[in-house]
Amino acid sequence: MSECKRKKLILFWDSGDTIVEEVTEVRNERGIVTSAKLHEGCTELLLRLYQEGFRMALVADGEVESFENIYRQHELESVFEVRAVSEALPERKPAAIMFQTALDGLGLCAQDKERIVMIGNHLMRDIGGANHFGITSIFFDWTTRYTKEPQALEEQPDYIAHSAEELYELIQRLEAELRGKENYGEPLSENS
Ligand SMILES: [Mg+2]
Repeated sequence: MSECKRKKLILFWDSGDTIVEEVTEVRNERGIVTSAKLHEGCTELLLRLYQEGFRMALVADGEVESFENIYRQHELESVFEVRAVSEALPERKPAAIMFQTALDGLGLCAQDKERIVMIGNHLMRDIGGANHFGITSIFFDWTTRYTKEPQALEEQPDYIAHSAEELYELIQRLEAELRGKENYGEPLSENS
């Protein structure tokens, strides 16, 4: 993808009960997920964001093979430029190495943290992990399987979205805000 088409905002994604409906997971005898349903609107959302030029990384707890199977099943193998998977590291969120691996994999540095958002359903692992790492946190709130009450100040999300549509709108807004910030301080043209 050409540099000019690339968006400023970088998207880190959790998988289970953010994109994937965990209750639909089918596991084989080795405990590997062989298929699963994605949450309503998520296939279209990921494809659209990818086509619009957003760079995305998966930052997920689970097995490398499980994620390969799920995203191949839905023909979304290419949307994640990098995958930071707990089995391979091997640490789970909220460990900073999960986020750092995604950052490094995208060739970004600490200065880029201000333009990274983490989207997840788990207040302690995703939101707490992202806040502690110094990136923006978005609580994707649709599952009822986990708590919606932050247990600490650090688990307080920066933003909340309840549906794929809401999340798309929020991402566009944050991208626009970043673009605005980028232009801040530019000299006024001679005509103005
Ligand atoms: Mg999750």
